[in-house]
Amino acid sequence: MKFLARDQLPTLLADLSTAAEVWVPVKQQNGVVQFDRWAPDVDVELDVFLARQSPKENVFPQTETYLEYRYLMVCSAQRPEFTDQTREELRQLVESEGGEVVAEVPPVAQELLLVADVGGGSQGEPGLGSAAGMDDSAQIILGLRPCDARGLSQMDNVFGGYGGFYFDPYYNVRRNNTTIIAVTCRTPRSTCFCRALGGSPAGTEGVDVLMTEIEGGFAVEAVTPKGESLVERSVFEKAQPEVEESAVAAKQAAEAGVNVPFELDGVREGLKAGFDSPVWHDLAMRCISCGTCTYVCPSCYCFNINDEIVEGTGERFRCWDNCFNPMYTLETSGHNPRESKHARFRNRFSHKFWYYPDKYDSLLCSGCGRCIMYCPTHVDIREVLRTMSAETTAEKGEA
Ligand code: SF4
Ligand code: SF4
Repeated sequence: MKFLARDQLPTLLADLSTAAEVWVPVKQQNGVVQFDRWAPDVDVELDVFLARQSPKENVFPQTETYLEYRYLMVCSAQRPEFTDQTREELRQLVESEGGEVVAEVPPVAQELLLVADVGGGSQGEPGLGSAAGMDDSAQIILGLRPCDARGLSQMDNVFGGYGGFYFDPYYNVRRNNTTIIAVTCRTPRSTCFCRALGGSPAGTEGVDVLMTEIEGGFAVEAVTPKGESLVERSVFEKAQPEVEESAVAAKQAAEAGVNVPFELDGVREGLKAGFDSPVWHDLAMRCISCGTCTYVCPSCYCFNINDEIVEGTGERFRCWDNCFNPMYTLETSGHNPRESKHARFRNRFSHKFWYYPDKYDSLLCSGCGRCIMYCPTHVDIREVLRTMSAETTAEKGEA
């Protein structure tokens, strides 16, 4: 364990900023705390307990361009036959403009050749093609809470996990170049419930370095090899025994301040048993499908992929999506497997506490409580989970 004197925090940040872009919680002009780039004149806000949003956007931006392309259309009247010669002419035309043909669309009503011109950027994983604008710069995020770090590790399973089958180069380039310095929670909010999910206000899942506020500064613990090399800096002092004692006391006090509003045992079974329960209609009644809960959630990762084309020049990008959106599961045929609001509402909780756990042996919620804080109609995930757990009990009773 190391010790960082409080007045040495700016020195540490200045030092870190020579090696990477540093992100910290900052109170914005409107009073909202959000993660922002650190600069010498920026005050790090560690008193406001949770930033409005976790820094998930640092590894999974709201909007991200995959590739840029151009279309060339060749009408049948001009080209009676779409011959190899035609193809070659078009290929030469594209290459003469510095582009590259990466795909062709077979002719339908008219001869059509899709010409993709890959935007600048580094190479993606083999077999995934080139990636436009892949950001591989190093970043350090300091001041997030353990629940936010846990949210990142839950997203890791999806973007880089499952035996690497779904490896996402964009996400992983950023994630591998990101160092996480979390700060132990001091005074948890009434909406926090990390402990109910096996987490802790001093949890280390997804964390490289954990800092715990104590008198005069921070007790600093390296969690990963990345964290170990970071705490080698001379600004960190060797911790005296009283530093360790203070850190233990601070962690225990924080733990004691977190509510455990429901028993996790039985939640998954309750969701399963209550899949067709009319209770979902009651629970979903208040929801207005705004999607706020998904956007502020540190572990919600759903996205949509869109093409925007203007006069033959196009961009393919992904952007955050949310499962409350009626269009979310709308299929091309017109069929929508989650047509009703209660089915979409049910999906969010079932995904986090049933489907995802079945696939990744982990939860998809860290108990940060943001969805409770920011839901405009006061939908409370704790109430939903408690109610659905009772469905198991009800079923057992019937049996
Ligand atoms: S924030 Fe509340 S109202 Fe909005 S989608 Fe989520 S549960 Fe529904
Ligand atoms: S579901 Fe709610 S409590 Fe759980 S991680 Fe997401 S925002 Fe936080």
